[in-house]
Amino acid sequence: MERLIIIGSGPAGLTAAIYAARANLAPLLFAGYQYGGQLMYTTEVENYPGFADGILGPELMESFRAQAERFGTQIQNVDVTRVDLSQRPFRVWAGDDAYEADSVIVATGASARWLDVPGEAHLRGRGVSTCATCDGAFFKEKHIVVVGGGDSAMEEALFLTRFGSRVTVVHRRDTLRASKIMADRALAHHKIDFVWNSAVVACHGQTHLQSLSLENLVTGERSEFAADALFIAIGHDPNTAIVADVLELDAARYIVSPDGVHTNVPGVFVAGDVYDIRYKQAITAAGMGCKASLEAERYLEELDAEREAGGLVASAS
Ligand code: NAP
Repeated sequence: MERLIIIGSGPAGLTAAIYAARANLAPLLFAGYQYGGQLMYTTEVENYPGFADGILGPELMESFRAQAERFGTQIQNVDVTRVDLSQRPFRVWAGDDAYEADSVIVATGASARWLDVPGEAHLRGRGVSTCATCDGAFFKEKHIVVVGGGDSAMEEALFLTRFGSRVTVVHRRDTLRASKIMADRALAHHKIDFVWNSAVVACHGQTHLQSLSLENLVTGERSEFAADALFIAIGHDPNTAIVADVLELDAARYIVSPDGVHTNVPGVFVAGDVYDIRYKQAITAAGMGCKASLEAERYLEELDAEREAGGLVASAS
């Protein structure tokens, strides 16, 4: 029987673990087979406070993890496959192995979206990717296309200029959603050009990506566009499938919380991108992990007091 189970190993989950471990709760953290969250797919992180010269995403997450372990967090690199949050103790399964806990922090993050167009699934890993850090180096001196108009798309496009001979950003509108600093960098880069008001509607190629069908969303005109690689950077979906039957979700399937910490189930707390549709920053996720852990600690103290009072009443009667 655990006091606290944390599901997720991004900045939210691991910060929760650091706080909970320092509070002597010896939390059990399920990190997933691909641990570390989305920063594992990032290159330089320039806006995480404390690192004046920037730090590589995976390096930052290794350091979070080491800090959590240093204070006694038990980390399992397995995926949680099922949970039962409808009764106490809460139950969490990783395959056939079941675990019980008095409290749970859900910090499962969000996953990259795909376009869901013909040819995309067949060409995944053969030129079509959602991770420039993972796959960019395969496309040296190639023509690379990036889809999206947000910070992720600009970051991917800028990173891919290290490899590609040319990087074309295809965006469905004529203005970028990205922050000004990222947009300005991409717009000014000599290797990056833009195709506005357009969508990728099909990917073509047998053994590897060779071309894309583009549709101009204003004129409806279709064209073929030669490309060696397609990086999709159009946002993320929250990873809420395992908790959907008990925790309240909003229309976009993010966990609903009145204060960004508590859920509709007392003793179950939320942290990070699985709740946060608005900010989605490593630092905000870490802050939420801290808050979730402090609230879990408070909840467990109250639970202990209730149990003790229950025990006293039982022994007196
Ligand atoms: P985002 O801000 O939601 O942007 C998604 C982009 O993809 C938008 O331009 C959107 O178009 C486009 N899009 C969405 N669905 C599409 C579809 N089906 N087909 C074509 N285009 C589609 O997501 P994000 O860029 O991943 O950023 C998420 C958050 O993380 C933001 O808060 C961002 O600031 C933050 N972030 C920060 C950094 C950094 O500071 N270095 C880096 C990465 C991310 P519309 O514009 O038309 O909606």
